[in-house]
Amino acid sequence: MSAKKKTCDIEACSDVSKKTVSREKAGKAIKQASLNLGVRDKVTKIHLCAKHYKIIKKQLKKDREIERLRWG
Ligand SMILES: [Zn+2]
Repeated sequence: MSAKKKTCDIEACSDVSKKTVSREKAGKAIKQASLNLGVRDKVTKIHLCAKHYKIIKKQLKKDREIERLRWG
């Protein structure tokens, strides 16, 4: 068997992974975006396809803005 291409770790997504983010950073954003991780293992890195990376990035940005408002 040849090496499998890394695919997106979001549940039900099988697109090729484009970006890797830390789980610590993205875990919350993934939940907030109403997405689920497809990985069951204790991973520290999450692979995201271009589409999901965009969603998570947006969510992280929003999160920062909320924090800024709160602590202004
Ligand atoms: Zn994906």
